[in-house]
Parts: sequence; structure tokens; C-alpha cells
Amino acid sequence: MQEDHFETMAIRLQTERSQYKEHSVPLYLTSSYKFDDAEEMRALFANEKEGNVYSRYANPNTTELIDKMAALEGAETGWVTATGMAAIFTTFAAFLKSGDHVLSSRSVFGSTHQLLNNIFPKWGISYTYADLDQQEQWINGIQANTKMIFVETPSNPGIDIIDLEWLAQLAKKNNLLLVVDNCFATPYLQQPIRLGADLSIHSATKFIDGQGRALGGVILGAQKLILEIEAFARHSGPAMSPFNAWLLSKSLETLAVRMDRHCENALTVAGFLEAHPKIKKVMYPFLPSHPQYEIAKKQMKQGGGIVTLVVDGGVEAAGRFMDKLKMFSISANLGDTRSIATHPATSTHSKLTEAERLQVGIEQGTIRLSIGLEHINDILKDIEQALS
Ligand SMILES: *Cc1c(COP(=O)(O)O)cnc(C)c1O
Repeated sequence: MQEDHFETMAIRLQTERSQYKEHSVPLYLTSSYKFDDAEEMRALFANEKEGNVYSRYANPNTTELIDKMAALEGAETGWVTATGMAAIFTTFAAFLKSGDHVLSSRSVFGSTHQLLNNIFPKWGISYTYADLDQQEQWINGIQANTKMIFVETPSNPGIDIIDLEWLAQLAKKNNLLLVVDNCFATPYLQQPIRLGADLSIHSATKFIDGQGRALGGVILGAQKLILEIEAFARHSGPAMSPFNAWLLSKSLETLAVRMDRHCENALTVAGFLEAHPKIKKVMYPFLPSHPQYEIAKKQMKQGGGIVTLVVDGGVEAAGRFMDKLKMFSISANLGDTRSIATHPATSTHSKLTEAERLQVGIEQGTIRLSIGLEHINDILKDIEQALS
């Protein structure tokens, strides 16, 4: 199966069927599993035999989701968690100890920022931020106690991009773990492990579910790293529910066709906005005007479903635009069939100071659009009337 195309693996890689020969994989709602005899129980606990023990560890539904995600990203294996943040927390907790330092992209998801700024320092773990478009900040940011490089590319909501192959070489040279939050791209558009990253993390809540129904997190990488993740996660308990794993595995079957349409719609919206006189700036990876367009073309299959724009007139103009939208939802989420508008300065990034926001490219007039799967003409019509 490894040799099959992405679309085929996303549909056909699945667990064995039960005696009922169901065509669609069933949901295994059971907290624990039985053993044939005392010897089987001993062997499973001693890791001498593979099998299900307890759903905090594994379940046929979570195993299927892990196997599919790993195959789709070219990773050896993986682990799944209840949320994207649980995946990020688990990764930090599994590999970092008191006295260690993380070099992170400055523009990270709001809760990741909170972990680095306010939670891990309590346990003696420090951090430095570097900008995605400033290579020397990454080179100079490495300290004697640095253990991990953590990066989000494309960034949220600034849509900045870093060359992952270059960063992987820097990490390797300095013996650091390179961890990539690949949420915006999904395995369909970008495969960090193939570019040299050690671990790739997803909030499956976004495009992987794609329909705004379920939370989930995924960590992918080499077996020896995932064993360390497992050692922490089995005992700390951030497990994904079988129901969410079942749902997310089904969602993967349509990921490629959904992402193709998200990207096609988003590129059209980005081009439309760029030509509009009321728009100060548009950020989209596959617009030739994007400062890292060449890198985006090299490491991403398409530009993704998120378009960030800046309107003239600051927070008032941004609010007016959002209130005039008729079809777009105003929501903090992204990666949904429904198009969504967010004002980062007053929502997802409201905990940052104005100076911190400007450092990551968020102005008062910045709006993040998650372009959905409605008809492109209806999406454009809504944006056009809101701008008029
Ligand atoms: C949403 C998001 C997360 C957190 O995921 P949850 O599933 O909400 O916990 C992490 N990183 C990025 C880039 C995200 O967009």
C-alpha cells in the first residue's frame, strides 16, 4: 500500500474487518479489551505481543487513523490525542526537561504561545522566538541548552513561510529536534518529515475533520521518537476518543478533493482581493507577490485555504467589513466547509500586546479568511458586497 497514491491510501488503508465483513469501518466503543488467557495478558503487558489492552493506549479506530496519517505523510508511525493542543503539549512534555530551551517561530498558535510564555517557564523550560523570514535569527537563536526547534509554516494569520529543508539542515547540524505544526497545510499540501523534520503535528480539528465537528491532534515521526511520546501519553492520558478517531479517519477519505477545492477557491479570492482598491495587503502563499513565493512553490503542493488581508481604516473598517458579510460566519475556527472571517487582533491574538502583534504582522485592519467549499461566485459576491 505504501506505493499507492495519496487519495487511494486515504481511502483504502484500513484495519481488518470483523466477522461481519462490514464495508465501512465500524466504531469500537469499548474502554478495554479481553485476553484469551493469563499468558496473553502477560505478553501484551510485556510488549511481547501486539494487541489492544485499554483505550487510553490504543483502539482499532485510533490505530487506523494513525496508520493512515503516517502513510500519508511518509512517517514511520504516530500517535493521536484529544486535541491539537494536547499533541503540542505532549510533544513538549515528552522531550523537554527543566533547563532546556526551545527555539520557536514567533508567530505560533495562541495557545502554543501561552504554553511557551506562561506554562513551561514554571517548569524551568525557556524559549526564544525567531521570525520565519529572518534566517540569521534562527542561526543566532540556538543556545547551548537548546533541545528543540518548533515551527509553524505557513504561519497563522500572517501566512509567513520558512524553508523547511534549510531549517532541517540547521537542526541536524546542531543535534536539535525539529517539530513542525503542519495544521494549515495538512499532509496533502506539505510533508515536513520528507523535508527532514523529526515530528509533524496536526490539529485534526481544522482541515482534517474539515466540517467543524470534532477535535483531535496527531503527532507523526520515527518509531523511536513516537515511543517517547507514547511513554508520556499512555500515563498522562490525553487520549483521542474512539468516536473522534472514527470520524477523522472517514474525513481523510475526502481530504484531497476538499483541499483541492479549498485551495482553488482561496487562490481566486486572493487574486480578487489583491486587485481591489480598498485592500492594503493580501497574504497567500501562491500569490507571486508573496515574499516567500518561491519557497512555498518548492515545499507546498498548493497554497492552502487561508487568505489574510489588511483593510485600510484599522479596526473600524475591519469591523464594518465583517459585519457586512452575509454568508461568511464570524468565528475563531478555520478549515471548515463554511467560509469564516476572523479579526485576529480582537480574538485569537487579543492576549498579545500591540507591539507583539505588529511583530507577527497583525494590524488592527488584519482579517483572516478561511475559504470554504461554497460556490466560488457566492464567496466572491459576499466579499465584494461587504467591501462596497
Ligand atoms: C487550532 C490550532 C491548534 C490547536 O488545535 P486544537 O485542536 O484547537 O487544540 C494548533 N496549531 C494551529 C496552527 C491551529 O490552527
